[in-house]
Parts: sequence; structure tokens; C-alpha cells
Amino acid sequence: MNTKKLLEWYKQHKRNLPFRNTNDPYKIWISEIIFQQTRIEQGLPYYYKFIKKFPDIFSLAQAPEDKVLKLWQGLGYYSRARNMHHTAQTIVNNYDGKFPQTKKELQLLKGIGDYTAAAIASLAFGEPVGAVDGNVSRFLTRFFGLDVPIDSYQGKKQLTMLANRFIDKKQPGISNQAMIELGALVCKPKNPDCQNCPLQNKCTAYATGTIENLPLKKNKTIVKTRFLNYFLVRYKDEIIIEKRTQKGIWQNLYQLPLIETHKEIHKATNIFYKKLNEKYQIEINELIFIEKNIHQLTHQKLIINFWLIRTSTRNNKFIHLNKLKNKAFPIIISKFLDNNL
Ligand code: SF4
Repeated sequence: MNTKKLLEWYKQHKRNLPFRNTNDPYKIWISEIIFQQTRIEQGLPYYYKFIKKFPDIFSLAQAPEDKVLKLWQGLGYYSRARNMHHTAQTIVNNYDGKFPQTKKELQLLKGIGDYTAAAIASLAFGEPVGAVDGNVSRFLTRFFGLDVPIDSYQGKKQLTMLANRFIDKKQPGISNQAMIELGALVCKPKNPDCQNCPLQNKCTAYATGTIENLPLKKNKTIVKTRFLNYFLVRYKDEIIIEKRTQKGIWQNLYQLPLIETHKEIHKATNIFYKKLNEKYQIEINELIFIEKNIHQLTHQKLIINFWLIRTSTRNNKFIHLNKLKNKAFPIIISKFLDNNL
């Protein structure tokens, strides 16, 4: 009964999104990865770009990683793009280019977690499994009055069970889409639109006045502050860039020479001169502070200071400005370069 109401509501209110009109597992997968941590309006242009450039799993698998990251530039959480590229190659090499069809098998692939596996399995292959993302867990928690933290093992287990109760076995993909849509459009994090909710008369949180308290969370996100100093080292029409190979944020993207400090530094210090000379073998004629930026990520607050260095020496670490356009940079550095080159 609840499922029926939910599906009727969905039919009337769903947004017409391009990846909803397909059962191609490749397109569904691309959309699920792009929209995992991205709003629909922000992600849609990326979805179109991706499908145009890499229309199938083979074209994505064959592309160099730099090209994939360049297309992803600005979306953040770059591990999504790296994992996607890796998984495309796995599917081509080990599965003959065909997606595995069950949630269990899909979960074995890099970057495909519980939610994405269930979404692909139900939407593309009709497996009757509930897909629990942030929207769905919020809606289910409130609807059933679940008083277990949603980020606990117990919470996750119960949410999967509850989601399965909303699955119409004849149309599992649409059932999942309907729950996601209800969470996104009606059962919103703040000020849910209960007056227009098709399930209001059965909702526990609505009946008990506990909407504001749900969902419960066990772990509060701890945000670490980091201080990054980036140096635009310029010699005529050349600058120094390097690839971030270490694990962590922005892996395999390009950046300017970097010195990370324990606190914010506003004036040129000897540490900068010493470290830059050691690492990049440059003679600094002038070191000027350009601008400060604050970049907020989920677990990190980055205080980024940009500096300009003028030098009269060059070495083989420099590259010409016209070679920058195909390289993927974190968006904050890309914007800085656009404004300062
Ligand atoms: S009645 Fe309100 S709280 Fe309950 S499911 Fe609907 S929108 Fe969410």
C-alpha cells in the first residue's frame, strides 16, 4: 500500500533526468558516480560531457587517466574518477566489457559500494534490492522512526531491510528512484514538505513530532585545518608544475610547487627560500604574496595562500604555458592560474 502510494506520487512528480530514461548499466553507473556527492544541477553538464566523450565502457577504459581527470575537473572527490577509470578497465579486461548483473558481483568492483551496486542491479537488471543513499536513509529513518544511528553497522543493516520493504518486485528500479526522489524533493534535510508527502499519514516521525531529531548519527565529522602555500614560479612563458602522486586529496592531479606549513604564513620566510631551492633548484629574485583562499572539503579546511616567484634561472622542471590546457588541476588552482597567467 505504501509502495503503491509512493509510486503514484513518483509518476506525477519525478524530475525528467536523462539517466532515468535508460537501462544501460554503463550510463546508470556513470550517473550514479557523478551524482554521489554532487547536486543535480552541478553534475548534469558533467554527465553529458562524459557520455559524449566516452559513450561506452570501451572508450572510457582506453582513455589515458589524465584525460578522464581533466573532464572531471571541478567536480571534486577525484577518487571517484580514478576508480571509475580503473573499473572500466576491469570490466573490459575481465568481463568482456559486460557489467556483472547482481548487486553482490557489482560490489566487488572498485568504487562500487553497497548503494551504487544496488542501484545498477535494480535499474539495469531488475534485481529487487533496495538502494540506500543519503536521501533514502533520511526518508526511511523518519518514516519508520528508526532510532539507531544511520552510520552504525546496525543502522545500515536495518535501513537496507526497510528499503527492501518499499521495493515493488515488478519494478525495483523505479521503486528505488521513487524513494530517492521523495527524499530529495519532499523529505528534505531541513523543513521537509510533510504537507505534500504522500506517506504523511503513516509516518512515525510526523506523528511523534521527532522529524527534527532524525536521522541520528554516531560519528560527527572531524574537520582538520591545513595550510598550503602554492608558488607560481614564472620564467618568461614557462612555469613549474608537478603531479600529486601521494595518496589523499587530489591524487594524480597537477599542482604548483607546494610547501605545507603548520600555521598560516603571510610574509616570505627563509623556510620558503630554503625549501624551494632544495626541491626545485631555483634562484628566487622576488617572492610576492598574491592571495588567500579558503577551500572547504568534507574532512578538511584548506587555507591556501598563493605566492608569485620571479626567477631568472630555468631548469627542466619548467613547462610552457601552452601545455597546461590538457592537464587537470584542482579547481582552486585552475581558477588562480586563469586569473594570474
Ligand atoms: S511526512 Fe514528512 S518526515 Fe515523514 S516521510 Fe513525509 S516528508 Fe518525511
